[in-house]
Amino acid sequence: MTRVYNFSAGPAMLPEEVLRQAQAEMLDWHGSGMSVMEMSHRGKEFMSIAEKAEADLRELMAIPTNYKVLFLQGGASAQFAMIPMNLIGRTGEADYFRTGSWSKKAISEAKHFGGVKVTVDSEHDGRFTSVPAADGFAVSSDAAYVHYTPNETIEGVEFPYVPATGAVPLIADMSSTILSRPVDVSKFGLIYAGAQKNIGPAGLTIVIVREDLIGEPLDGTPTMFKYATHADNGSMYNTPPTYGWYLAGLVFEWLKSIGGLAGMAAVNERKASALYRAIDASGFYNNPVDPVCRSWMNVPFTLANPELDGDFLKGAGEAGLKTLKGHRSVGGMRASIYNAMPEQGVETLIQFMAEFERTRG
Ligand SMILES: *Cc1c(COP(=O)(O)O)cnc(C)c1O
Repeated sequence: MTRVYNFSAGPAMLPEEVLRQAQAEMLDWHGSGMSVMEMSHRGKEFMSIAEKAEADLRELMAIPTNYKVLFLQGGASAQFAMIPMNLIGRTGEADYFRTGSWSKKAISEAKHFGGVKVTVDSEHDGRFTSVPAADGFAVSSDAAYVHYTPNETIEGVEFPYVPATGAVPLIADMSSTILSRPVDVSKFGLIYAGAQKNIGPAGLTIVIVREDLIGEPLDGTPTMFKYATHADNGSMYNTPPTYGWYLAGLVFEWLKSIGGLAGMAAVNERKASALYRAIDASGFYNNPVDPVCRSWMNVPFTLANPELDGDFLKGAGEAGLKTLKGHRSVGGMRASIYNAMPEQGVETLIQFMAEFERTRG
């Protein structure tokens, strides 16, 4: 068996240790005689898996006790609607930062439910390559919340700071950056993330929400779209994504074993800076993002001669470096180097890039 280095933006690589443990436990979880997939979500075995996963996530992120952790479905995309359904009612308006493709989607969905003020728009010449300075935006006094996307997965733009929004709750789509480094959860009203980048398999969505924000959904909000429904029932109002929840728990254990988020951040910082250094040192590869907000997780780059894109991808694939094709809206390449991408994978990519430039550039 040969495992490749998979640079997909999501679903993405999982730690090999996690996959091996899941394999070992597949047919008989801890002497239960069942796979986790076959267990009742209300039985004591699964309850212990669920509670351990939540406790480990709380420990990893130092989540304060006045926050609920919800294990939901529907992806980050369902949150684009659930957030305004549950939170915009207080004033009827919310502020949104428009910094790339995912925040654009969040904005267009929120418009169905209330007033949206775009207080930051970093698009220039049709591209997103920067974020405002930490003091470069104002918070509307009548905003029910401020929504932003700390890491724009498609453009490879990551905020180097947490925006200060005063008393107005800050909401973050952390889908492609959660668990990549420590964050101060108390600065946020709500954090959400689809699992398939840094948490586990697709199909699970994690929401971390401050308790006082849970209660007042818009009239007519369906039961399944109310945070209160899930908060009041331990995310078991209906059948939760049990296997994804279990695998997320294994990923949390893995993160703890490598030094938690501080340990993970050190590795991520090394991986990203090595790759950006290689791109910047070459005359052949280019990353267009302002260096102060280059993403640790998603590194888009172009070749000086786009006619060589196909040959680059073919050669990379033969070297075991897969899924490097850039998003169609940006072109070129994109290396997504989430938590589970080994340092060796990034080193192998850098070596391949140097060799390709030497022989073809
Ligand atoms: C991947 C991604 C999404 C979409 O997630 P789904 O789980 O597919 O709905 C939303 N926001 C960001 C920042 C993402 O990276």
